[in-house]
Amino acid sequence: MSRFTWLERRPEGLFVHPGGFFVDPVRPVPLAIVSHGHSDHARPGHREVIATPETCAILAERYGDQAFGRIRPLPIGEAIELGEARVRLEPAGHVLGSAQVVIEWHGMRAVWSGDYKRRPDPTCVPFAFVPCDLWITEATFGLPVFRHPPAEQEIAKLLRVRDANPDRAIVVGAYGLGKSQRLIALLRRAGYDRPIYLHGALLSLCGLYERLGVPLGPVLPATVGERGRSRQDLAGEIVIAPPSALADRWVRRLPDPLAAFASGWMRVKQRAKQRGVELPLVISDHADWDELLATCGEVGAEEVWITHGREEALLHALGLRGIRARPLALAGYEEEAG
Ligand SMILES: [Zn+2]
Repeated sequence: MSRFTWLERRPEGLFVHPGGFFVDPVRPVPLAIVSHGHSDHARPGHREVIATPETCAILAERYGDQAFGRIRPLPIGEAIELGEARVRLEPAGHVLGSAQVVIEWHGMRAVWSGDYKRRPDPTCVPFAFVPCDLWITEATFGLPVFRHPPAEQEIAKLLRVRDANPDRAIVVGAYGLGKSQRLIALLRRAGYDRPIYLHGALLSLCGLYERLGVPLGPVLPATVGERGRSRQDLAGEIVIAPPSALADRWVRRLPDPLAAFASGWMRVKQRAKQRGVELPLVISDHADWDELLATCGEVGAEEVWITHGREEALLHALGLRGIRARPLALAGYEEEAG
């Protein structure tokens, strides 16, 4: 019998009984703790939201002031009492502001990972290791095939392809929150100091990252035909766009576009092919197979719950290591952001 019956799976998401709140609920609730700003974890309509100050800023930027009754910032590491539960947020290393939710009640500690990664990322605080009794983890890349190479290696590949194609625009599909800014920051670390051109949908979040203290260097809107910029001016330049734009008319405005895509899913060649991606870049903001397994062991939990993703292989691998694990199969979390 599990000691953790005070945590309950409901249609809205995971409910913490002694605290009277949900974590990352997928439907509107009275009180939600939100781990990070991706839209599948942060849905509009809650009466009250508690999140890190950066995530609160991201929510306000994405949804406007009217989407929630109240947004309450909770700085990393600061504990609060909610009902009988004690709650604090610790860094998850996934995107700017992302947090694990640490919940304590009656001497037991449960940690909700949210989405997380263990690799360094110049745009956010690294994952903090929190020993716990119950580890509630994602498993987006829960198959042994998913092993992410060092991001620097993929950036070097991108720069080589750019150098070899001075007449083409290199268009990199990347999600708007987190991946785009990380790509830019990684390019800067690799010494790339030319302007980086952005699809209009990415401008506001990139601006917010800069205001929150993440420098991105020169970034410009990828507009053609306005302000004197001609189509040919973007030849040999790096343009970042939401993945959907790669299949859109928009991309045809660029000179002989070469489509790249930055995602953990690019490990699967078929996915790259389906999307017409010429240059797959395996850069992910999620833990890969090795990181998932290592983390499940390191936190020392007596039980592991898997919220979403590819859970079968992970359940099996944890079982072999003597770790009791079960799938929560929470609906409503997307895998695409990878
Ligand atoms: Zn996420």
